[in-house]
Amino acid sequence: MLVVQKFGGTSVGNVERIKHVAALIAKSRQAGDAVVVVVSAMSGETDRLLKLAHELAPFPDEREMDMLLSTGERVTIALLAMALRAMGLDARSYTGRQVGIMTDSTHTRARIERITAERIKEALDQGIIPVVAGFQGINENNDVTTLGRGGSDLTAVALAAALHAEQCLIYTDVEGIFTADPNIVPSARKLEKVSYEEMLELASLGAKVLQSRSVEFAAKYEVPVIVKSTFKKGEGTLVTKEDRDMEQVMVSGVTGDRNQAKITFIGVPDHPGIASRIFGPIGSANILVDMIIQNVGQGDLTDLSFTIPRGDLHKAVDLANRIAKDIGARSVELKDKIAKVSLVGVGMRSHSGVAARMFETLAAKGINIMMISTSEIKISCVIEEQHLEPAIQALHQAFELG
Ligand code: ADP
Ligand code: ASP
Ligand code: MG
Repeated sequence: MLVVQKFGGTSVGNVERIKHVAALIAKSRQAGDAVVVVVSAMSGETDRLLKLAHELAPFPDEREMDMLLSTGERVTIALLAMALRAMGLDARSYTGRQVGIMTDSTHTRARIERITAERIKEALDQGIIPVVAGFQGINENNDVTTLGRGGSDLTAVALAAALHAEQCLIYTDVEGIFTADPNIVPSARKLEKVSYEEMLELASLGAKVLQSRSVEFAAKYEVPVIVKSTFKKGEGTLVTKEDRDMEQVMVSGVTGDRNQAKITFIGVPDHPGIASRIFGPIGSANILVDMIIQNVGQGDLTDLSFTIPRGDLHKAVDLANRIAKDIGARSVELKDKIAKVSLVGVGMRSHSGVAARMFETLAAKGINIMMISTSEIKISCVIEEQHLEPAIQALHQAFELG
C-alpha cells in the first residue's frame, strides 16, 4: 500500500536520529509499502531562524520570512535522502515547489490551493522514495510561502489526500494523542482513537501534536491519520470519523493555550452600533477575535472585553486606542499574561454537568475565571497564565482522564 510518513523536528534532530528514521523507512519498504516521506526542519531550527529575523527587524517582511524559514526543511530533506541512499535505497529530495504545492499568497500562514505532485508520482513509478520538504509551497508568483507553525503536518495530510494514500503516519516524539500533553500531565492516557472533530478542537485550542489545519484537511478528505512515536514501538492513535464508542466518553481531553491576549474597553457608551464600530476595524486589520464579553451596563456605560492571539497584540494597541477615541470609551486595558484551558469531548453533546464540574475544580484551586466560552463539544475558560499547568492537571484529575 501507499503511505505518507511524516517525521517531526525531534525525529530528525541530529545525524543519529536521521539514520534511525532512514531505518524505519527502509523497514516499511521491506514490508512492501510504497512510501512518500515528509520532514520538518531539525528541532529548534525554525525558532532559531525566527530569532535571527527578529534581531534585524521587529516585524520582518513576511515574504523574506518565508524565504528564510523554508531553508530549515531543505536541510533535512537532503540529509535524509543521503542517509537513505547510503543504505542502498533509491531516494530523492524535493522542495515544495518541485512537487507543485501551490498556495495562496498569505505569507507565513499560506493555505494550500492545489497540489500537482507530478514528480512524486514519477518517482514512485520508478521505485524511488520521494523525500518532500514539509511546511512550504509556492504562490502564483513563484514566491516561497510557508504554511504556519506545525505546517509539515499539513504537507503530509495534503499529499496523502492528493495521492490517495492509504494512511498518513505522523511520527513524533510522543506515543500518540493523549488525554493531555504528557509533558504536563505525566499520568495522561494515550487514546486509541479520536474523532476528527475532537482533534480539530484539541489542536485549535492548543494541543500542538497536530497542526489544526492539517486536521481540517484530513476530515475534509477523510484521510486516516495515525500519530505515533519515532522512538518507541506501538500502535499510536488513529484520527478518524466519529463512532458510537466515542459518544460514551464525556471528556476526551484537556488542553491549554498560552497564545492569548485580552483587550478591554472600559466605560463604553452603551448604544446600538458600538460593537460593530469596535470589531469592524479589528476584523479589517486581520486580527482574529476569539471570546467576547460585554458586561451589564451601569447607567449608560458598559465594559467590553475580547481575546486575540498574543502575537497580534502589537498590531492591536494603536488600533484599540484609536477606536476608544472614536467611540468615546474612557480607557483601554491590555493584558497578555492570560491563557485558555479547555475540555473537549463529543460526549458533551449527551452528558450534562461538565461545565459545573470544570468551574468547581478551578474554584477549588483558587483559580479565577475571566471568560468562558462553550460549543457543542468543548468548554474553554480564560485564566491567568501562571495557573495554566495547575489547571490542566487539576481538570485531568477531576474528570478521571488518567
Ligand atoms: P513534531 O516536531 O514531531 O511535529 P510537536 O512538538 O509539534 O512535534 O508535537 C508533539 C508535542 O505535542 C508533544 O511533545 C507534546 O508535548 C505536545 N502535545 C500537546 N498536547 C498533546 C496531546 N494531547 N497528546 C500528545 N502530545 C501533545
Ligand atoms: N518547521 C516548522 C515549524 O517548526 C514546521 C513543522 O515543524 O511542522 O513550525
Ligand atoms: Mg509539529
